[in-house]
Amino acid sequence: QKVTHPRFKAAILGATGTVGQRLVRRLHDHPWFRLTTVAASARSAGRAYGDSVHWLLPTALPDRVARMEVCEVSEVEDCDVVFSALGSAGARELEPQLAGRGLMVVSNASALRMHPEVPLLIPEVNPDHLDMLDHQSFGSGGVVTNPNCATVGLVLSLKPLADAFGIEAVQVTTLQAISGAGHPGVPSLDILGNALPLIPGEEDKLETEPQKILGSVSGGAFSPAAFRVSAQTNRVPVVDGHLVSVSVKLNRPASPEAARKAIEDFRSPVADFDLPSAPRRPVIVAEDGPRPQPKLDVDRGEGMTVTVGRLRSCPVFDLRYVALVHNTERGAAGAAVLNAELMAATGRLGRA
Ligand code: NAP
Repeated sequence: QKVTHPRFKAAILGATGTVGQRLVRRLHDHPWFRLTTVAASARSAGRAYGDSVHWLLPTALPDRVARMEVCEVSEVEDCDVVFSALGSAGARELEPQLAGRGLMVVSNASALRMHPEVPLLIPEVNPDHLDMLDHQSFGSGGVVTNPNCATVGLVLSLKPLADAFGIEAVQVTTLQAISGAGHPGVPSLDILGNALPLIPGEEDKLETEPQKILGSVSGGAFSPAAFRVSAQTNRVPVVDGHLVSVSVKLNRPASPEAARKAIEDFRSPVADFDLPSAPRRPVIVAEDGPRPQPKLDVDRGEGMTVTVGRLRSCPVFDLRYVALVHNTERGAAGAAVLNAELMAATGRLGRA
């Protein structure tokens, strides 16, 4: 099924933030969505978007969006899809309310990711989890979430291995960029020339979200995958791009060559929809040597491709490797837009 319908009306919540700005950039000239509403806190509401945002992207703020008036979240209405880049506390309260009012919420926030009725979606990994929209009890709308920004890199790299060999256990250590903490985020004096070995709440997300995503859904319930994850997370002075350093124990041991082939052969199950934000390859293997690197590889596939490198055998588990994910694109704005594109392509938007 190809999408040929007209543009869906889209709103952004938290439009002035780090993720919200990237949503603005992706949506202002999107072929399927028309950005009609930008919402943020009471601090910004009532002002022109261009006057309230501290624009951080190297591309120009689009004129049409700069002139749009920012509203409060409670004022959002008449939209086919609401992209949420709210903080977790706001999302926990406001996203169910919006869904209850008949709006379809596509969220970056962690608040509802592990909710028993809410898909935690990566279109190339678990598109069938969208079926849970038929079993939600928020009202006439719905909520779909995208994973934590490090989780999505881990899961896209694990998916080909899970399909080919099965996964028993994962040990992951992250080196995470400062943009993952929003703006102004981590104080410069804390992070420059330094590394911070604690990101509150992050390890728990990496230890629980992958099993939901790689699990199954049937009869209105999720069955998480059975493997265990041990995670350690660190903040490092990189602007964009989380590195995840992974050791994995497989159900059926495989050589690094077989694992490499599994990753190289992996193809998106939703490729036929030609989703505008989908990269040609969701996960690739880097050239040999010290790759991937945030500086050199983070923008692959317009920030939507996860790059795997240093794939080798592990003396403790079976395999080890490093994967790189663009945390504010594949880990946030791009992920949400891709989710909404799959929802549009499968008839999940514009039903009201
Ligand atoms: P951020 O830069 O701090 O932006 C927060 C946004 O929320 C701003 O637009 C802010 O508006 C708005 N806001 C704050 N309080 C509000 C309220 N009470 N009501 C309505 N709007 C409110 O944060 P971010 O990094 O973009 O993150 C946004 C969400 O995405 C978070 O849940 C985060 O965990 C998640 N996420 C972030 C990343 C990442 O890499 N950064 C990755 C994945 C997921 P004002 O400008 O008016 O204050």
